[in-house]
Amino acid sequence: MTERIFNFSAGPAVLPVSVLEEARENLLSLGDTGIGLLEHSHRGQAFRAVSNETEVLCRELAGIPDDYRVLFLQGGASTQFFMVPMNFLTAETTADYLVTGSWSQKAVAEAKRFGNVNIACSGEERKFCEIPETRTYSNAPAYVHFTSNNTICGTQFATEPEVPGDAPLVCDASSDIFSRPLDVARYGLIYAGAQKNLGPAGVTLVIVRQDLIDRGSTDLPTILQYRTHAEKESMFNTPPVFGIYMMGLVLKWIKQQGGLSAMQARNHRKAETLYDYLDKSRLFKPTAQRDSRSLMNVTFVTGDEQLDAEFVTTAKQAGLDGLKGHRSVGGMRASLYNAFPSEGVGALIGVMRRFESG
Ligand SMILES: *Cc1c(COP(=O)(O)O)cnc(C)c1O
Repeated sequence: MTERIFNFSAGPAVLPVSVLEEARENLLSLGDTGIGLLEHSHRGQAFRAVSNETEVLCRELAGIPDDYRVLFLQGGASTQFFMVPMNFLTAETTADYLVTGSWSQKAVAEAKRFGNVNIACSGEERKFCEIPETRTYSNAPAYVHFTSNNTICGTQFATEPEVPGDAPLVCDASSDIFSRPLDVARYGLIYAGAQKNLGPAGVTLVIVRQDLIDRGSTDLPTILQYRTHAEKESMFNTPPVFGIYMMGLVLKWIKQQGGLSAMQARNHRKAETLYDYLDKSRLFKPTAQRDSRSLMNVTFVTGDEQLDAEFVTTAKQAGLDGLKGHRSVGGMRASLYNAFPSEGVGALIGVMRRFESG
């Protein structure tokens, strides 16, 4: 088999080898059923067991309270950009958005189709290099939406933002879900496309409080109401079976590693090692403000686009792939999600050191 290289891709992203190996086995026969994992009926006992286990692990790892539902949906985080306002925002109400990067901007654009949007803060003027501290909320917003980790510009909220009154907090956690412990009770709804920290593309995890589901609009296509998926336990139609299976394996792996606190410690070590190097480097500069730095996506530049491109090529030749920054910001981006091995950070620093001195 071809040797695996260090994959710094922002998403789809690296998965644990043990997970891939177990999936490979079960592709031909799920356990001893004689039927491959992609070939089982989603309503059969074997897949039910898979789906239940994924939900149980999710609840256990994140300490999800009983009044929250765990849903496995399709359409990516981008579908949640409109599904959230479609269910909870009307022409008469206002939702508040914390705009900290281009994914938040996309979420805002969709919300405006359904109701009023108040931009509680925006980091756009500073090119999203920091999480703005001052926020201006509207009166009694329908919900407050934020993006916990900004995958493209490499910034991250250190903690959940405070919200006015009892406004439900809605979070796009696509690129840092389960990278650290979280207090689910502070949220109304959390969504995450799986392809960064949870598994393959094709499944979106949604954790949502029951009272919010009940309040959602009933005047929508059935499949676009959260209540449908809650009532049918994510089996209203054929669910993304492969994604749910893989997510279960990834969650099992996280549990074996010691859970979310252990993930956080590991992620902290990996990112700090890289930021330490960047802070001392005379050539490479981190682009995010220190107190807004992401532990998941480390963005940096040399200040010279041609040199950036040269470095990406050099790194690629050394077996480090996916370091080119997002096309909208340029430079470099090292994505260090849960499954990214710490040896890869060491390898990157080695290549940077040689590039810098030679
Ligand atoms: C990748 C990403 C998205 C887009 O996810 P899709 O599943 O491709 O729709 C949205 N938000 C954030 C924060 C992301 O990192």
